[in-house]
Amino acid sequence: MTILVVDDRREVRHIIQAFLESGGYNNIITAASAERGLEILGVERDDPVSQPIDLILMDIVLDGMDGVEACRKIKSYPALSDVPVVIMTAHTEPENIDKAFDAGAIEFLLKPVQKLELLARVRSIMHFKSQLDRLREREKQLTAITDELETANARLERMSHADGLTGIPNRRYFDFMFKKLMASATRMSIPLSLLMLDIDFFKPYNDTYGHLAGDDALKTIAENLHKTIKRESDFISRYGGEEFAIVLFGNDLKAAERLGENIRQQVEALDIAHEASGTSDRITVSIGIATCIPEPHIKPENLIYCADQALYEAKSTGKNRVVTRDSEYLDDPALKRNHTLMARHYV
Ligand code: GH3
Ligand code: MG
Ligand code: MG
Repeated sequence: MTILVVDDRREVRHIIQAFLESGGYNNIITAASAERGLEILGVERDDPVSQPIDLILMDIVLDGMDGVEACRKIKSYPALSDVPVVIMTAHTEPENIDKAFDAGAIEFLLKPVQKLELLARVRSIMHFKSQLDRLREREKQLTAITDELETANARLERMSHADGLTGIPNRRYFDFMFKKLMASATRMSIPLSLLMLDIDFFKPYNDTYGHLAGDDALKTIAENLHKTIKRESDFISRYGGEEFAIVLFGNDLKAAERLGENIRQQVEALDIAHEASGTSDRITVSIGIATCIPEPHIKPENLIYCADQALYEAKSTGKNRVVTRDSEYLDDPALKRNHTLMARHYV
C-alpha cells in the first residue's frame, strides 16, 4: 500500500513518514508541493496514474497551489477520483474544512498531527477503501456479465432472424422487413421490386440425390444469391422450402428483370447436376417479379400476390425463366378479393 504525503515542511513530512512506518506502512512517497504531488500522480502529464497511490495526506496551506485546489484537481480525474484524500490543517476555521470536503476530501487531520490519531484514521480509511474496491470489482464483474448477456441476446435475436440451413434471413424476418421496405418506398415514392425465386424440379432432385444433397444445393444457391445481391438496400430471404424472396429497392421493372435474369444465369452456371430435371441437365430456377412505386393503398400482400402470379406463369410456361408483372397488375380485381384465392401456396 502506497501513501503520498504532501507538505511543504520537511520536518512535518519526516515525522508523518516515521509515524506511518511505525504503523507498518512502509511505502511512503513525500512531496514538498501540490505541484510535485500532482506530478507524482501523473496528473500534469494528463496521464493518471503513473504510480498507484492508495491514500493521499495533503497539507492545506502550501506555497503555490493550495491543498484544496490540488484535491479538487485530483478528484476531477476519473482514474484518481476514488483515491482518498485526507486534508491536514492547523486552521480549525470551519470554512477551511468545508472547502476541503467540497473539494472531495474524505477526512481532515489537525496539525500538529498526532501519531495515534493519524494511524487510526489511516486504518479506518484503508478499511473503507478496500471494501469500496471490492464493491467496485463486483460491479465491474456484473457489468462484464451484463455485456456478455447483451451480446448473447443480440446473437440470439440474429439467430431467430436467420434461416437455420442457409443462414440468410428467414420468412418471419422477411415479413417484418418487407413491410418496412414497402413503407419506406411509399414514403420516398421510389420503385420497389419483389423477386420470388423457386428451384425447378426440386422434389425429383431430392428423390434422385437424397435430402442431404438437396440441403447442400439450397446452401450453395443461397450463398450465390447473397453474392449477386450486393447492395445494402437489397434484401434476400428464404421464403419457404426451396423458394427465396428478394426485395430490390429503387430499381425499375427493367432493372429488376435484368437482375432476375442475371440470378437465373448464375444459378445455371453453378452447374449442379440434375439428371431428373425436366428442363435442363442441371439445377435451374424460375423467377417471378413484381414491381411498383408503392402507394398507401398497396399492401405488401398485393405485391407478393403479383410476384407469385408471375412465378406461376414462369413455371407453367416451361420453368427456368424470368416473368415480370408491373404495377398495372396490382389493379387486378382478384387482388381486391381475398388473397386466399392465390393460385399457389408456398410454405
Ligand atoms: P417445381 O419445379 O414446380 O418448383 O417443382 P418442385 O419439385 O421444385 O416443387 P415441389 O413443391 O413439388 O417440391 C418442393 C421440394 O422441395 C419438396 C421438398 O422436399 C423440397 N424441400 C423443401 N425444403 C427443403 C429443404 O430444406 N431441404 C431439402 N433437401 N429439400 C427441401
Ligand atoms: Mg420448386
Ligand atoms: Mg416451391
